[in-house]
Amino acid sequence: MLTAIVGINWGDEGKGRMVDLLSQQYDVVCRYQGGNNAGHTVVNERGKFILNLLPSGILRDETVNVMGVGMVIDVEHLYHEAQRLRDGGITITPEHLKISDKATICMPYHKLLDELEEDRLADKKFGSTRRGIAPVYADKFYKKTIRMGDLLTPEILEEKLEGIVEWKNLTIANGYGHEPIRAKDMLDWLMQYGMAFKDYIYDTTEYLNGAIAAGKNVMFEAQLGALRDIDYGIFPYTSSSSNISAYAPIGAGIPGKKIEKTVGIIKAYSSCVGEGPFTCELFGEEGDRLREAGNEYGAATGRPRRVGGFDVIASRYGVETQGATSLALTKLDVLSYLKKIPVCVGYEYNGERLSRFPTGKALAQATPVYEYMDGWNCDISACRTFSDLPAAAQNYVRYIENAVGCPVEYVSVGAERDAYIKMF
Ligand code: GDP
Ligand code: MG
Repeated sequence: MLTAIVGINWGDEGKGRMVDLLSQQYDVVCRYQGGNNAGHTVVNERGKFILNLLPSGILRDETVNVMGVGMVIDVEHLYHEAQRLRDGGITITPEHLKISDKATICMPYHKLLDELEEDRLADKKFGSTRRGIAPVYADKFYKKTIRMGDLLTPEILEEKLEGIVEWKNLTIANGYGHEPIRAKDMLDWLMQYGMAFKDYIYDTTEYLNGAIAAGKNVMFEAQLGALRDIDYGIFPYTSSSSNISAYAPIGAGIPGKKIEKTVGIIKAYSSCVGEGPFTCELFGEEGDRLREAGNEYGAATGRPRRVGGFDVIASRYGVETQGATSLALTKLDVLSYLKKIPVCVGYEYNGERLSRFPTGKALAQATPVYEYMDGWNCDISACRTFSDLPAAAQNYVRYIENAVGCPVEYVSVGAERDAYIKMF
């Protein structure tokens, strides 16, 4: 079985938690895009772990984890992330972590360029996490990057770096007026942090095709959500990569294979990090209370997230874009404090009701149409079957299924591994 686990919304839907739960049934977990610009939080019996680069299956000894060709890897960050997990008792060896030889390395100068550009933009900034992700993906398409496999041929690495550094300094030094970078420093950095993963570099296409031929179950894990996809998201306030399920086989290393099942992670309300249109946003006390209840602060950055009610228009678009075959509705318990639950049931633009998620000016200027549904206003975190849920919570789940046109397979009522309801 080839299954993708993807975000339906703006990210932070609880993918890490669901992948950790579902990965029990899978032999292999692959990350297929992105870098360390987002975070998954996983709580299990060994503690609480924040994962930025490593696939969530890394927390289970028996799962093989793949970091695919579509990823951009800051090896210094990976080094420290792996160290933190090891300190927490997690085993990380080449037997259960395989990094694509074609994955791109996110270099220190990519981070520097991200900083320089965000600072230059000042008030007009895009809300980059300043982890170098846009610059490194841009360079990948320029075909001027170092890939993980290059670490295996250090004799040509130095020459390759010199060419790239000369080119980068045209922007860094001549453009931004920053002190030039030096090829020697970059080489030292690669030797220190990249070489630590030398034994983890694989042809992940060969590995994955072999695993599939041997009947293994493979899960593909996305970072961020549909609305952050470079093509289909709220461009330009998107990530710089394709995070939708259709890209999973390409980004992991098996471009010829098809995903059989796509579980869309959808949150019972909305949250969004950084700048950009977020039509359903709630402000003032209503927003503050929801942010507190959901503990909506960035896993990677600690930034307070913007919050809103469940957004029918955006979520329906997310389900369509991801080709979700079922949903995992997360953080339903967070809404337990509410007597009336705000739901963004539509968008208005120029005095008209929109039937689809808009783009461009219509998205920037759309205003939300809010309705309030009955809350359950009691603790549901111990519910383990659908019938355990109060009627108002059951109604809310059924309402979401109908509104977005996709069945809910899981309902999560807490961050702990077993705090969920299986619907079918
Ligand atoms: P991701 O980026 O999609 O993996 O999500 P984040 O890790 O950024 O944010 C999800 C947060 O919500 C984490 O702190 C999880 O531990 C927590 N969480 C996940 N599912 C639930 C749930 O059903 N209820 C509650 N209360 N917390 C949850
Ligand atoms: Mg997150």
